[in-house]
Amino acid sequence: MRGGCDQLIDVPNHIGGKELQSIDGEWILNYAPSTGEIISRIPKSNIQDVNNAVKVAKEAGEGWGLLSKNERADWLDRIADSLERRFDEIASLESLDTGKPIRISRAVDATRSVTNFRFYAQQIRELEDENFTMENATNHVIRRPVGVGVLITPWNLPLYLLSWKVAPAIGMGNTVICKPSELTPMTANLMMQVIKDSGLPDGVVNLIHGTGSEAGAPLVSHPDVRFVSFTGGTSTGSIVARDAAASFKKISLELGGKNATIILDDCDLEKHMDSIVRASFLNQGQVCLCGSRILIQDSIYDSFKNKFVEAVNHLKIGDPTDENTDLGSLISPQHLEKVSSYVNLAIEEGGTILTGGETPVIGTRFEGGNWISPAVVEGLSHESRCATEEIFGPLVTLHRFSDDDEAVRISNNTRYGLAGSIWTKDSLRGEKIAKQMDTGMVWINTWLHRDLRVPFGGVKDSGLGREGGKWSLGFYSETSNICIMDD
Ligand code: NAD
Repeated sequence: MRGGCDQLIDVPNHIGGKELQSIDGEWILNYAPSTGEIISRIPKSNIQDVNNAVKVAKEAGEGWGLLSKNERADWLDRIADSLERRFDEIASLESLDTGKPIRISRAVDATRSVTNFRFYAQQIRELEDENFTMENATNHVIRRPVGVGVLITPWNLPLYLLSWKVAPAIGMGNTVICKPSELTPMTANLMMQVIKDSGLPDGVVNLIHGTGSEAGAPLVSHPDVRFVSFTGGTSTGSIVARDAAASFKKISLELGGKNATIILDDCDLEKHMDSIVRASFLNQGQVCLCGSRILIQDSIYDSFKNKFVEAVNHLKIGDPTDENTDLGSLISPQHLEKVSSYVNLAIEEGGTILTGGETPVIGTRFEGGNWISPAVVEGLSHESRCATEEIFGPLVTLHRFSDDDEAVRISNNTRYGLAGSIWTKDSLRGEKIAKQMDTGMVWINTWLHRDLRVPFGGVKDSGLGREGGKWSLGFYSETSNICIMDD
């Protein structure tokens, strides 16, 4: 059941420093995933709103692009300071809007949103132009802004991912239009309030709400947009790549994953079990990096399975506002239906559900929410659909392997290539396996341990390009070479 609540909030577009409805005056309702209650409504923007925003961003770029990198870095620090003052509000809104536990939205979402601005302020200050001296000439390689950019983000880590793009993009002198997921608009709105309050020149950061087809697609196709940074699903990424290609825009695509967690026979299960469970189910498994296929070496399969299922059964699913909650709800009824359909498919494909995959009993207040208990499945072929397609929810499959070569083969047996993790006492053995994995990132004896200076991104259907550290600064700028002949 989906109901209303008393405090319906209008979440506006932000264009050129103004809070605006869509030109057509149409709205999209936004629901709290844990209860099904309506919490806000967002403008159903279309091409007219897009044209307006791009025009404003282009005009703002004329002044903004002229500032020095240190002046722009100072702005990023000011935004970080203002965001930090609203830390608790970010955490509460993110928890309300996504259904994730408040503990997670505080530790992961709010923390990283502030850190992203601070981190890029420092990176940009430290950035130096490169010089190459020849016998009779000197080359200066300089970085210029690219122009107007579009930043499109998904619903699973709303402000975390948006700030990861906004900070380096404006820090390198570009102006941007953000297009957050229509399912999670709340913290993007908060960020725009913070940016306005910080006094950043109007039009440097703009924000358009709406659906992917009506607001996202015209942004990507707009002739005055010079780059698109997209994080979302692989099939959408393919449409974005196609639409951007027509006018040779720079694109960065961070897409889906089907990551393997490889448990070698020498893994210290006692020590690492909590981390392996976290890698499987953080944010209800709705993290692109989550390990949804666990590959376990034969000799420790049963011991791992028993300990893992026991640990999963201890996870506390329920009220996202409760500090002790480990797992909240899924994002939408449609997504719940998708994840549930994979539970049924796992049975059809010959798997055994060891635990979960059911509607948990939480309380009447949450009856209208999108709930499913974390599921563990064994007995499936590693070539089954459940073991190769991205489910993006709380369902993991267990598979046996006999030796390291087989672990690599199974790990690489999907169209995706985002990340993976290996658990072993022998880090050399782990690294040898890691080097053979077709992924952009591998963790050994840890997961989601992020140094923001390192490259982030995937191979195969998991994306194109890298973000993070100097890779982001490279993407969000154009390099030009000036060659000066000695006189
Ligand atoms: P999605 O692809 O449905 O939507 C992502 C964004 O794209 C939304 O803002 C949506 O409105 C917009 N969009 C949709 N169609 C569009 C179009 N034609 N043109 C332009 N924009 C369009 O993804 P989602 O369901 O919001 O997010 C889940 C997916 O995101 C999963 O596949 C997950 O793996 C992936 N993801 C990847 C990363 C990563 O870093 N690789 C991080 C988080 C999530």
